[in-house]
Amino acid sequence: MKVYNTLTRTKEEFVPREDGKVALYTCGPTVYNDIHIGNARTFISFDTIRRYLMWRGYDVTFVQNVTDVDDKIIARAAEEGREASEVAAEYTQAFIDVMRAVGVLDPTTRPHATETIDDMIALIERLIASEHAYEVDGDVYFAVRSFPAYGKLSGRDVDDMRSGARVEVDERKHDPLDFALWKASKPGEPSWPSPWGAGRPGWHIECSAMSEAEFELPFDIHGGGVDLVFPHHENEIAQSEAASGTPMANYWMHGGMLQINSEKMSKSLGNFTLLKDVLTRYPAPVVRLLMLQTHYRSPLDFSDARLDEAQAAYERIVTFVRNATWATAHVGDGEVSGRKAPDDAAKATFTATLDDARAKFIADMDDDFNTAGALGAIFEAVKRGNEYLAAHEGTLDDADGVLLRRAVDEITELLGALGVELSPAETGENNTAADADVEALLAQRQQARADKDWTRADELRDEIEARGYTIEDTAQGARVVRASVAG
Ligand code: AMP
Ligand code: ZN
Repeated sequence: MKVYNTLTRTKEEFVPREDGKVALYTCGPTVYNDIHIGNARTFISFDTIRRYLMWRGYDVTFVQNVTDVDDKIIARAAEEGREASEVAAEYTQAFIDVMRAVGVLDPTTRPHATETIDDMIALIERLIASEHAYEVDGDVYFAVRSFPAYGKLSGRDVDDMRSGARVEVDERKHDPLDFALWKASKPGEPSWPSPWGAGRPGWHIECSAMSEAEFELPFDIHGGGVDLVFPHHENEIAQSEAASGTPMANYWMHGGMLQINSEKMSKSLGNFTLLKDVLTRYPAPVVRLLMLQTHYRSPLDFSDARLDEAQAAYERIVTFVRNATWATAHVGDGEVSGRKAPDDAAKATFTATLDDARAKFIADMDDDFNTAGALGAIFEAVKRGNEYLAAHEGTLDDADGVLLRRAVDEITELLGALGVELSPAETGENNTAADADVEALLAQRQQARADKDWTRADELRDEIEARGYTIEDTAQGARVVRASVAG
């Protein structure tokens, strides 16, 4: 398996530190408002990576923090006349809810900054003791000069950065590149007691403290959006490696930005769409399919047109699964309506299509999580499956039933490995069991039609449709399916 490592700027063979286990850390949200679809892209990318690693048999421990103390939270609380902790609690829950709604698995642990203050203070004390940090008037700064490898992740040259640094008139810093580990609190701000007086942690220190509390260093993969490479991840490396003397993580993975009209989606530019609003218009699998169509490291241009394309792609999959499930259940029921039964060669070709799809899916995903290629493999199987059904529906035998069942299982499994969960209601897997009364109405309608009681038949159709189903006529007779996934 190959993974692109930002640290070495190459695709490397992925070798976890412990056989069969992966320790994965990604930076979580700062909880001062609802996340936008750009933030969601990064979280969905790492959920996909995590799920694929799990599907490949790895035991993945996934840690993601919640930044619940921060300037932006304090500012929002002040605007609204609320406590910062109240604002943070509200948006932490909103984040958890919307992640679940889009099918992102809960992390193994979700440490909160405010619950990890002791670990952060202990880490800062170690940095001061080893002269990697210094205190000035209740603030503590990391001394960038004390860490010669500074800049190795982002590939920046420290001297260039220093001369390019805004001439901050902060006489208290020994070097313009030094960054805050601890900030003395102003009156009215949330604060915690510390050896340097009441204050609160800087942002970067939290990820260093938490990952060290959860994992032995170096852990396997550290992830986040590419906008976090500098300064956040560069600073995490400086803190963790200066304090521990070992590398922080073996692989640094970064997701590309979601853009709108070729510009990064961001809260500050105001060009954002909230994930929760997108989810009122499109189901979760559609949102995920849209994301998967672009490699996680490439920029992704977001638009409603692309959501509609993803919707259409989703419907092609759902239609195949529904039709194949139906055909499997009705093998031998139909009349041969001029179609030719699949011969052994046709069966063998379709079997090979499924084998190839699985092999290509794995090869693409093993190549730095090439989800676009992997989806292509799934769509090829869907297309061939739809062709097989169209050519042979009504002529299928038991062997075809087995083959179609396998196609459905295979497609469902591979999509599931990427976090695209097909809804049984839409694919018709449990139509009969879940909706016996609708099936009964359908049977009555078929009887009415046989009796040429067209008025009654139409009434029954209306009744079925009023319950959210449509009637489809197939070679094996009529069936009900839930109305379009688009609602
Ligand atoms: P923030 O709340 O800004 O710290 O962002 C939370 C996560 O969303 C981080 O992992 C960022 O890298 C990521 N992120 C922010 N904006 C975008 C974007 N436009 N596209 C992709 N990821 C983003
Ligand atoms: Zn972080």
